[in-house]
Amino acid sequence: MSATPWQRAIAELRAALGAARGDEAAPGLPDEARLRDALARALALCVPPELRDALARRVDAREAAAPGSDAHALATRELARALEEWESDAFAERALGRSVEALPGVGPKRAHGLAERGLGRVVDLLFHLPQAYDDRRSLEAIGDLRVGQHATVIGTVRSKRVESKVARGRAQRVLEAVVGDDTGTLVLRWFRASDRLAAALEPGVRVLATGDVRRYRFAKEMVHPELERLGDGDAPDASGADASGADASGSDARPPAEDAELRVVPAYACPEGVAPRTFRTLVATAVERYSDLVPGWLPDALARDAGLPAPGEALRRVHAPEREARVRDYAGFASPAHERLVLEELYLLELGLALRHARRARAPGIALDASRGAAADAQLPFALTAAQARALAEIRGDLARPSPMSRLLQGDVGSGKTAVAFLAAVTATADGHQAAFMAPTELLAEQHARSLARLAAALPAGLRPRLARLTASLPRAEADAVRARLARGEVDLVVGTHALVQDDVRIPRLALAIVDEQHRFGVRQRAALAARGEGARAPHALVMTATPIPRTLALTLYGDLDVSVIDALPPGRAPTATWLAREGDGKQVAEALRAALDRGEQAYVVFPLVEESEKVDLRSAVDGARRIARAYPDARVDLVHGRLSAEERAAAMARFESGETRILVSTTVIEVGVDVANATLMIVEHAERFGLAQLHQLRGRVGRGGAPGTCVLVARGGGEESEARLRAMLETTDGFRIADADLRIRGPGEFLGTRQSGHLPSLRVADLVRDARLVARARNAAFATVRADPALGGAPGLLRAVEQRWGERLALAGVG
Ligand code: ADP
Ligand code: MG
Repeated sequence: MSATPWQRAIAELRAALGAARGDEAAPGLPDEARLRDALARALALCVPPELRDALARRVDAREAAAPGSDAHALATRELARALEEWESDAFAERALGRSVEALPGVGPKRAHGLAERGLGRVVDLLFHLPQAYDDRRSLEAIGDLRVGQHATVIGTVRSKRVESKVARGRAQRVLEAVVGDDTGTLVLRWFRASDRLAAALEPGVRVLATGDVRRYRFAKEMVHPELERLGDGDAPDASGADASGADASGSDARPPAEDAELRVVPAYACPEGVAPRTFRTLVATAVERYSDLVPGWLPDALARDAGLPAPGEALRRVHAPEREARVRDYAGFASPAHERLVLEELYLLELGLALRHARRARAPGIALDASRGAAADAQLPFALTAAQARALAEIRGDLARPSPMSRLLQGDVGSGKTAVAFLAAVTATADGHQAAFMAPTELLAEQHARSLARLAAALPAGLRPRLARLTASLPRAEADAVRARLARGEVDLVVGTHALVQDDVRIPRLALAIVDEQHRFGVRQRAALAARGEGARAPHALVMTATPIPRTLALTLYGDLDVSVIDALPPGRAPTATWLAREGDGKQVAEALRAALDRGEQAYVVFPLVEESEKVDLRSAVDGARRIARAYPDARVDLVHGRLSAEERAAAMARFESGETRILVSTTVIEVGVDVANATLMIVEHAERFGLAQLHQLRGRVGRGGAPGTCVLVARGGGEESEARLRAMLETTDGFRIADADLRIRGPGEFLGTRQSGHLPSLRVADLVRDARLVARARNAAFATVRADPALGGAPGLLRAVEQRWGERLALAGVG
């Protein structure tokens, strides 16, 4: 599974050498001939030439010595030692990790420039895949060229003219060459042409030119075409950008046959200052010299069944597609070669997740007696929905087992996750343990504390957990008191923010850590909360997320968790009507607000707030609140934003919950969790500045009581993309479909927000959206691998590869 072509060749050499030395009982005695044979195979591989030389030299030295002589024995020993080193994973790793300076034509200056773009090592170049492909396999007759076409032609230089001009105060040397074939002529034009290029284009020279055809007076032209001089290897470098010549690339070693140039040419995102052609040569050299050192980890069966090439071969094809390649597949990252590289990467990632999962399952946990807490279910003010009951049963099943739970509770806004989490917590507290509930923001922690208190109040004294809140804004003395009570076991259920994972927090009988994530925390924080417990047994972990996450992302963000989904809303929810208002629709929006107030209902008005323009945003929220207060003098208006103290915010929220405040103006801090049944109208200002998932969250704040909700998205510009996104909000209320649309339109980084996308693994070739269908395959393979070998004890190389790539990100070392 892991051996590279190079390692396999070396292994063969070693076996042959062992046989030749007679120190292994090798039946059939493969011998010196076998050694030569293996050598020939090794020398044909894509590995550094100096490595091939060193290998050949050692074999030759041994052969030159008389068999039986001391010199022969010495040379044999040295060859054996060298082979041993060359066969190791570490050797290949070091070679791939070399600076690009190891490549011909790369000096310190260029190496530095490449390193700044994340291309400092040979391996970086290998995995810097083409963004697109330029299909130069079919030639156009020059007479058939159409303006606007991207084409490749072969022609003979008929004439050449170099003209010095001064344009905008700068000297320019314009090179113009007329090339022609039997059907017509074409002008090739360069501004700032290098001497080399000008000299190369002598009349009579045959060239292959690729570029966009433009009209030029009565003729056609290509400006700065890609140029290959046919018939000899010293093709001119056609780009003006690379005229400095400082680190000029080595030219292709093989003189291209005319027809070899009619190929599919990779197009790369080139670092600044490196001409495309130079960069292509550089990557081609890296591939030529290193690709057979690249290991592959996919189980053989999977790669074979799918007909995928080995990684080295895949790299060669991706960087230089075969003549008969289907370019569309290559451009779409869908060729078998691409698939191999993508699967390799995803497989390692999923292995990391599978390992975490397996490690936790092996760790000792706290088997709770779930029967006691179950009495609480019937005490709540409502009956659980079937979906809630199912999720709760899955959770309780885990809690009763002696290994720690790691479960994701996923459900749309308002689906009743908090109630389920509460009952899970009561399962722990009723059995004499503690539970902790961590929220991403102060406001949410406050909101959760209130909801949990309400639910707790419904329970009989014997079952009712003692609650406390711990957030950073709590006055020092109060926080100290909470911590002391927690440490003494006098608090059963604590709700808080990051303050819960500070070092001075001790929750000695912690059995259940609940994290309300909104994908903001990530693996590390989950582990940190779990670590607040004491003793050898790891607490159970329940992660809640109200943001529907498309399955492909969920598999990766939460890939090491089991999943429970609450897929139905509590009864009596009327669907929320949504409309899109644009500038100029102010009157209708005002009427909707007035109507809601007249019905005795409440409303939210939300303004965006982004960190970069916090001041301006805050001002517009403040102005908005003032304007609204003036327009509705009979209704109390409150303003909530992140700059308020926790008490001020809590007081404002309490006024809104009690109905004293009729209109709550806020920045996005109310995004999640706020739960006021009488609020029926949600107005989102500058809706174009919100993500769809966020809008979905906001919309979920209304229509939570019996009365139907209305959501008005006020768009103030933003262009086509945001129109498309906002329209998706009108088309469906299904959070998962909205999330999918958002993900498709914005890509995973944007989807999760810049801060949150830090929790996404940074992938080199795979793309979680584009390669969604491969994620599941990689995942199944990885989990099967770990089921068969839970700690990868039988595959140390693979384990090291996973740890190197993902160990830190997945906190593989820390969590047991
Ligand atoms: P989520 O956390 O998933 O957004 P919550 O747990 O906050 O949802 O529940 C939303 C609202 O629905 C709360 O007011 C809660 O009390 C109520 N609720 C939860 N479960 C039920 C149920 N089974 N029947 C009726 N109302 C419910
Ligand atoms: Mg909630």
